[in-house]
Amino acid sequence: MPGIDRYARHTVLPEIGPEGQARLAAARVLCVGAGGLGSAALPYLVAAGVGTVTILDPDRVDRTNLQRQVLYGERDVGAPKAGAGAARLRDLNPDVEIVAMEARLDATNVDELVRSHDLVLDGSDNYPTKYLLADATARLGRPLVYGSVTAWEAMVTVFDARQGPCLRCLFPQPPQGWVPNCSEAGVFGPLVGITGAMQAGEALKVLLADPSLRTLVGRLWFVDGRDLSTRQVAIPRRSGCEGCAGTAAPVADDAVRCAVDLALDARTAVSLEGAVFVDVREPDEFAAGHVPGAVNRPLSALRGGPHGLPAAATYVLYCSHGVRSRSAVAILESAGVVGVRHLDGGLARWDGELTAGR
Ligand SMILES: [Zn+2]
Repeated sequence: MPGIDRYARHTVLPEIGPEGQARLAAARVLCVGAGGLGSAALPYLVAAGVGTVTILDPDRVDRTNLQRQVLYGERDVGAPKAGAGAARLRDLNPDVEIVAMEARLDATNVDELVRSHDLVLDGSDNYPTKYLLADATARLGRPLVYGSVTAWEAMVTVFDARQGPCLRCLFPQPPQGWVPNCSEAGVFGPLVGITGAMQAGEALKVLLADPSLRTLVGRLWFVDGRDLSTRQVAIPRRSGCEGCAGTAAPVADDAVRCAVDLALDARTAVSLEGAVFVDVREPDEFAAGHVPGAVNRPLSALRGGPHGLPAAATYVLYCSHGVRSRSAVAILESAGVVGVRHLDGGLARWDGELTAGR
């Protein structure tokens, strides 16, 4: 095998070895989006000797990208990301066939692109693309390494409908609070790198298919970049899931709003006229301490509908860290409730008093 020395630090690992390296060399990976996640994931895929890597991105490099999209330099500003990224990656490893496609993923090209690759890495930054990709990979039986970053929080998982849940098993519709791409929202640069590198690692593990390497299929890995707390949540397969069945309708471009429109800091929340705080944690958590005057409507109960909520100009939903409340926002909005916001970071970032007991 040419260039065997290049991969010596991989082939010496028993989980990889020359056989694993040959698997990588035979693999075709599609990376959708060459922004922050792709900037981190692509170099590791190419350096590892994945045989063919296709980069799909319709955008050009903007100066504000350089804060986190480290695949590019000053000289690339204004150039197509796919082409500029490919040039950098060919320099990194000439053994790899790099295909640059300056195009947007859409309903007309998604099936052909997914079908012609063994694995897809989601480096996109918007929900219509994420759902289009998730539905196509589930329908066509290709593993999808999913990543998403908002400001200080990130998540990674592997959707493989042949053996686990799909994106719609987790979120049947785009969760309103989890909108990754907001031109006015900030994002912590190194967190994007951590997330993209994790995705590359999961992609390589899926391709290696060594039984001792456990991928994130059926598990969602979540990290909060503010304190580096991490959590893993099991994602069950959802019976009747339209994504798994291949019958889901596409997500419209205007179906999601920016997270910064919905998340409130504590000081703003308490100053809102006529606001009602809704604690979406479980009753035992509520009993141990809650925002004064809050009502308790656990997320699990809210899924049944918004019945019994007191009238309010604004509902401020909160939980421990702002994850459940984000889901609750989506549930109430889809039930037609207006004026729904949530507390950014949850009680972990609440610095006011709490009332204990009920
Ligand atoms: Zn599903």
